[in-house]
Amino acid sequence: MVSPVIENLNLIRARIAKACQASGRSMNEVKLLLATKTVTADRITEVLLAGQTLIGENKVQEVRDKFEALKSVPHETHFIGHLQTNKIKDLLKYNVTCIQSLDRLELAERLHQRLASEARQMNVLLQVNTSFEASKFGASPDQIFDLVRRVSELETLHIKGLMTIGLLSADHAQVKKCFRLLKDIQSQIIAENIPGVEMNELSMGMSGDLEAAIEEGATIVRVGTAIFGQRMYPDSYYWNESLTSS
Ligand SMILES: *Cc1c(COP(=O)(O)O)cnc(C)c1O
Repeated sequence: MVSPVIENLNLIRARIAKACQASGRSMNEVKLLLATKTVTADRITEVLLAGQTLIGENKVQEVRDKFEALKSVPHETHFIGHLQTNKIKDLLKYNVTCIQSLDRLELAERLHQRLASEARQMNVLLQVNTSFEASKFGASPDQIFDLVRRVSELETLHIKGLMTIGLLSADHAQVKKCFRLLKDIQSQIIAENIPGVEMNELSMGMSGDLEAAIEEGATIVRVGTAIFGQRMYPDSYYWNESLTSS
């Protein structure tokens, strides 16, 4: 018997396949990232063993808590949450290969200092606030160009693309607008030809809106609830500064 989580995973794979087909894209162009906040290492392992390879965590504490249990299971971990500068040093202990939520110069500079002192480098995506909602992080669309240029000068950080959280709304057209805006920003950055800046990755789309994101060019979709079930905490717990103390 197939477990519910694996059943859900198969449904998501089918949705991704269908969305790719509908927009004439190859499935190889779209990676599935498992958004694993609040999910136990056992359940994550189950999905990794079913052929997935990429997880994303929102909190340094969760990366730390699950590190040992997941060590022997081949996978890659991206950081997708709001990163406080005082957590950088801790985060870098746990083999995170990409920080998708780089959204401000101060964070970039502090990351760079720390990485340089350890003689290391890091892949990053710059997070853009495409929905203009006050509760979400990300550089605003008019700040992002300056941020890309400044971060490109920090030689330990390799910019690979952009990330956004679309508007959480049932209004399909409004959600798509967010994804289209990220795609537009990507095109404009590519046109600037900034040395050292790659713009291949667009991380956008979640459980409720991955089809729209794939249609607009997503290369990474981040899916939590639709695979692992409802979380105990509302997303504002993860996305709201005043509540994220760890
Ligand atoms: C939780 C989370 C997701 C996944 O959201 P679901 O609606 O559960 O699929 C994606 N991206 C980020 C940044 C998240 O925090």
